[in-house]
Amino acid sequence: MRPSQSELLERLGAIVGPDAISTRVPDRIAYATDFWPKTQIWKQLGDIERFPPDCVVWPRSVEEVSRILATCNDAGVPIVPYGGGSGVCGGTVPVHGGVVIDMKRMRAIRGVDDVSSTFEAEAGINGQHLEDHLNARGLSLGHFPSSIMCSTLGGWLAARSGGQFSSRYGKIEDMVQSVEVVLANGRVIDTRHRTPGAPDWTQLFVGSEGTLGVITSAVLKAHPLPASRRLRGWRFRQLKDALRAMRAVMQAGLRPMVLRLYDPFDSLIALGKEDDTAAEAQRGGGSPIREAISGVAERSRAQLSRLVAPIGKAVKRRALISALSAPPVVNRVSAHLPVSCLLIIGFEGPEAVTDADMAAATRVLTDHGGSDLGARPGEAWLKKRYSVGFKQTKMFELGAFVDTMEVATTWDRLTTLHDAVRAALTPHAFIMAHFSHAYREGCSIYFTFGAHKSDPKRAEQHYERCWEMATDAVLGAGGTLSHHHGVGLMKRHGMTREHGAMLRVGHALKHTLDPRGIMNPGKLLPDEERAEPSRASIDPNPLERAGL
Ligand SMILES: Cc1cc2nc3c(=O)[nH]c(=O)nc-3n(C[C@H](O)[C@H](O)[C@H](O)COP(=O)(O)OP(=O)(O)OC[C@H]3O[C@@H](n4cnc5c(N)ncnc54)[C@H](O)[C@@H]3O)c2cc1C
Repeated sequence: MRPSQSELLERLGAIVGPDAISTRVPDRIAYATDFWPKTQIWKQLGDIERFPPDCVVWPRSVEEVSRILATCNDAGVPIVPYGGGSGVCGGTVPVHGGVVIDMKRMRAIRGVDDVSSTFEAEAGINGQHLEDHLNARGLSLGHFPSSIMCSTLGGWLAARSGGQFSSRYGKIEDMVQSVEVVLANGRVIDTRHRTPGAPDWTQLFVGSEGTLGVITSAVLKAHPLPASRRLRGWRFRQLKDALRAMRAVMQAGLRPMVLRLYDPFDSLIALGKEDDTAAEAQRGGGSPIREAISGVAERSRAQLSRLVAPIGKAVKRRALISALSAPPVVNRVSAHLPVSCLLIIGFEGPEAVTDADMAAATRVLTDHGGSDLGARPGEAWLKKRYSVGFKQTKMFELGAFVDTMEVATTWDRLTTLHDAVRAALTPHAFIMAHFSHAYREGCSIYFTFGAHKSDPKRAEQHYERCWEMATDAVLGAGGTLSHHHGVGLMKRHGMTREHGAMLRVGHALKHTLDPRGIMNPGKLLPDEERAEPSRASIDPNPLERAGL
């Protein structure tokens, strides 16, 4: 017989202790949302707790996590693993209620192996705290998401996070060696195998977004802190030339720590943070000779950029609201701005190697028509790289919404993908993009889009419509919907179109490891479309039958 809610709370309280469980209203409201922009629209509607959890627990050890899961599994109560709550796809929204497990009290770093350059850390550790700890030992993880100050190792692993230096160090899935996971029935498993190149079960759980178990700790690779770092900015008149240049850099075998290209409008926003640099970037580096050669067209570009640069700052201000209410106009103007594209490139490592890499990249970028703007735009980017902040933009207070969409594809389809999403959203939302997370074979595009509707109900509908149209465009152009933000609640409906038959494998795995469906239900996988009874109803105990 299932326990009553009060019996369940009593059992959970006995596991974690009275100071580590809460059913208080403020806690239930706080854990009802994450950074998914749609939940901000709910708040505008006065709907502050659409999906509150029944309770929140803060375990301190893997044993406690194991006992919590076993208890909830017996009772058939949903579990939602929670790291920093910085996810932007609703991955932690408790759509079926249940128990939120906040992992932040599990934050130990158990051992740094200086010889093998690996370390082990508990999943709830804050990203910046982890990096600080490694830095004190002369090491770095090399993972720098913009949310580093408000996200955790477990959230990174669960959502396949990508940092700003991914072109050199890879995404989190490239950094992790093994994970310790608690399965739905409380069984603890560890994918650890110390030998490089050994068969690897780790990736089964990386990116599973809390739907297969709770990640409690992981072993990861570290890197020595770089002895030197060089950054430069480049200007390209045409986006297509800059994209060719990016591809050529990656395919020449260079591994820049950052390789980031802004479309014309995003170039102004990016550099608008540094007014003089923006003007300089658009002028062509401030060299009097170059400026003289550039002539009238170039000067008018510079003047225009000075006029438009404040728009970047005004993104947070009421003045932009009227523009956001008429997105086609803004998009049309931005598409015809006589503005160049800014590319930031950086290398780090031993000094001689960094200099040689930068020299090789300089040749490639020059050959593709780029103009070197010097170190300043790159250094300005580095200084401001976390300025996106972990506070929601004031745009929401003003009744507008802003969201981001990080997609990816191979180089041959990149421009098509970019144009398709722009065309789909242009009539409905203000849109700009930058290209980052470059690979030998492809690249990610990070779109920022927003709009304003006077009534929040209409804003919610408009927001949904924008995502539907953008999703269609991405899938039609052969891109992936999720490069590093995860799938969560928001993108799961596009999973069938993107992954086809592989989703059956995903569902089979889910049924086997989580037969009662308690692990973060409603996330990552779309609902199954099948007439026959589910495997869970045929075999309620596949885990036990498999000896797990
Ligand atoms: C301002 C801002 C900037 C951002 N910049 C970046 C960026 O540069 N790169 C990037 O990749 N992302 C970025 N994000 C998105 C977000 O930070 C990442 O998705 C991050 O990986 C989430 O980590 P978290 O600890 O906050 O996880 P949460 O939001 O708490 O959870 C995310 C998902 O992981 C699951 N989960 C969390 N912990 C565990 C665990 N221990 N075991 C199993 N499942 C778990 C949750 O159930 C949920 O499904 C940004 C977000 C914001 C708000």
